[in-house]
Amino acid sequence: MSDNISCCRNEQITNDNPDPQSIKERFITLIEKFIGAAAVRLSDDVTSRLEQMREGEDSPLQKAIYGSYFENLKMAVEQNRPCCQDTGLPQFYLKAGSAFPFLDMTKEVITEAVKRATLSVPLRPNAVNFFDEKNTGDNTGERVPWIDWEIIPGSQEMEITLYLSGAGCSLPGQAKVFKPSDGMEAILPFVTDIVYGPGVNACPPLLVGIGLGHNIENAAVLSKKAILRQLGTKHPHPQGARMEKEITDALNSLGMGAQGLRGSQAVMGVHIESSARHTATRACAVNVSCYALRRGTVRIKKDLSYELPSYKGIKLL
Ligand code: SF4
Repeated sequence: MSDNISCCRNEQITNDNPDPQSIKERFITLIEKFIGAAAVRLSDDVTSRLEQMREGEDSPLQKAIYGSYFENLKMAVEQNRPCCQDTGLPQFYLKAGSAFPFLDMTKEVITEAVKRATLSVPLRPNAVNFFDEKNTGDNTGERVPWIDWEIIPGSQEMEITLYLSGAGCSLPGQAKVFKPSDGMEAILPFVTDIVYGPGVNACPPLLVGIGLGHNIENAAVLSKKAILRQLGTKHPHPQGARMEKEITDALNSLGMGAQGLRGSQAVMGVHIESSARHTATRACAVNVSCYALRRGTVRIKKDLSYELPSYKGIKLL
């Protein structure tokens, strides 16, 4: 487990010609390279957790599966190629400083970076407009790339977390609004049925994101944000943290193992994100990631220098 996430802050991007077009090009290139890094390698916390899990399995079959996972990840880095053929649809979760000087161009920059990364990384073209049923060919389309904005008042930074979510780990997602009278005890069987049903096809071990809130859409968003949280972190409420541990232990006790081929562990962890609920509802959504959990974070300063907290020793530019 990697609680010691290292930071790699690059030198300031020199800005000899501060015209808007030149700044925009630098911003696009930075995001394009960031997408490439996230497609090729797993973040440090995920790699550490998978190493731990490999050590925790005794059976020759489980050892062999983890062996092939790590061989695949090694070759992806050596050949600078995506570590899975399904490079997902890029989803961006922004903590956007209200005083970040390039706020206005950020959406356009991200969209153009996705188009370029589709060719340069390369990413598999996965975006199909819903009613046209045509692949756009560049991973952009109606409301894609998906961009989730959280405005941070007064901040001059832009923090971007990218999640490349493949189909295998998107298919199991489910949400349900329970009655309060169903009690918190309704959550565990709901989660277990998902993890041990469609979750088996999502290349376990999984990271399970649970969103608890007041309606279906707020729980769904929270369940995805739960997957973005660093491994090793806990829900801030003691009861939430206890629930994360209890569900983790329960899921790991059922013998799923990597690739669903029987082992002692099923999940990298269970993360819960929550909000207040309506007095008469108790909403729960579940999202899972596969072992190839490709999510990373870049923090961009007002001079377009950056930090990469997810990847030790990596430079983008
Ligand atoms: S579930 Fe993940 S690792 Fe498995 S094929 Fe899909 S994207 Fe790749």
